[in-house]
Amino acid sequence: MIKKLIRKILGVKPSAKGANKPIVLSAKEHGIDVKLVSSNAIRVTHTLQDAGFKAFIVGGAVRDLLLGVKPKDFDVATNATPEQVKRLFRRAFIIGRRFQIVHVMFGQDLLEVTTFRAAASNDNNKDEHGRVLRDNTFGQQHEDAMRRDFTVNAMYYDPSTQVVLDYHNGIQDIRQKTLRMIGVPEARYREDPVRMLRVVRFAAKLGFTIDPATAAPIAVMATLINNVPAARVFDEMLKSLTSGHAMACLEQLRKEGLHHGLLPLLDVVLEQPLGAKFVTLALANTDARVQANKTTSPSFLFATLLWHQVLEKWNAYQAAGEFPIPALHLAADDVLEMQTEKLAIQRKIGSDMREIWAMQPRFERRVGKSPYKLIEHLRFRAAYDFLLLRCASGEIDASIGEWWTAFYEGDPAGREALLNAKIKPEKSDKSEKTAAKKRPRRRRSATQQSIDMNIDVSGKQENK
Ligand code: ATP
Ligand code: MG
Repeated sequence: MIKKLIRKILGVKPSAKGANKPIVLSAKEHGIDVKLVSSNAIRVTHTLQDAGFKAFIVGGAVRDLLLGVKPKDFDVATNATPEQVKRLFRRAFIIGRRFQIVHVMFGQDLLEVTTFRAAASNDNNKDEHGRVLRDNTFGQQHEDAMRRDFTVNAMYYDPSTQVVLDYHNGIQDIRQKTLRMIGVPEARYREDPVRMLRVVRFAAKLGFTIDPATAAPIAVMATLINNVPAARVFDEMLKSLTSGHAMACLEQLRKEGLHHGLLPLLDVVLEQPLGAKFVTLALANTDARVQANKTTSPSFLFATLLWHQVLEKWNAYQAAGEFPIPALHLAADDVLEMQTEKLAIQRKIGSDMREIWAMQPRFERRVGKSPYKLIEHLRFRAAYDFLLLRCASGEIDASIGEWWTAFYEGDPAGREALLNAKIKPEKSDKSEKTAAKKRPRRRRSATQQSIDMNIDVSGKQENK
């Protein structure tokens, strides 16, 4: 009775009980603005339908369309097999093993086309903790809906008829701004613990609440994330950090008890008192870029998140008598090693992060040819943006950033004037000078030359 009343208020039709029939929502009922639908997604569904297959826009794109938000990417679900899909498009590639999908490309635009999947019930396809390892059994559309994660992610939109098929009453949860797991939450988290990170990301990004039954098991099951391959955890972290709501995501992860011990990165980010301002600024900066549709670089992002840990170790190595540059590399080694154990920071990203960190001391030298060499460096822009964040957070004197901005933007005469102007000593220069005094002259110049020539002076090599 109450359910009926709620449905009436929300304007939702009851789903056919017991059957695998979806609620069918017409254009008038769902109100999707067709202008928000990608023309390439329409092209893909039309091509598949013309070839006699079923094809729908699915998942997060439908959720976002129903919320009146322009989706950032479009996924298509079909009853055509990956091979059949591939044959219909000029630039289509089958990818993935655990979960085969087809990437259809139109210029730079990439669409993911998946074949309807059936639930993976066979225990041979799971690891000892119940995590699904293979998931390539094709199935009916209602089975495909069943194995999606949240009700709001299990709706299918056909651009030709403009009808939305809703198998799990997702429309009601959209209207109530609720994230609700399809099926039994404990079982679904066991199958794929990454769903715990996903629900947190969606809650933060969409401003939805997590239904109590969906939220409750997380605190108990959080450790299952340890069994997930590190690369997947890294991808998911990156999605959270570049969702346009990074800080909200991290706070929600903490609220759900998902940060402790599980993701060493988060322990560092959320619990470093000194770095809080720096990290907050960095994340606000990233959020603003994402919201303005600008690109973000994972290496820059992770370099900012871990900087204060590097700083702490850098100081400790120097206090133990190490020279500043090798000490910085040793600190970078330690931090990267610690983080890569659980969070597979790819080698390339790790080396880019190291480069951004290693360039920081070079900003202190504002005489002779050094500044000219530095602005020619391939990663100057990232390192300079990083420097500005250090200034804005109060870690170093703001005048260094101002000097570099003037130098970077200046004409030749302006640059010479800056180089000839007397620079008042800053806080950060002081440590350089004290360290320089203790250092034997010869060794200092060797390190210095290596930096100027942009040779890797990793602390390990220096120490040998
Ligand atoms: P985003 O806006 O971040 O892209 P999304 O919901 O589209 O969110 P995707 O990772 O692009 O997320 O996945 C597309 C769809 O595939 C989801 O909406 C969901 O239906 C399904 N899906 C993705 N990951 C899982 C998972 N781990 N378990 C079950 N279903 C999933
Ligand atoms: Mg998506």
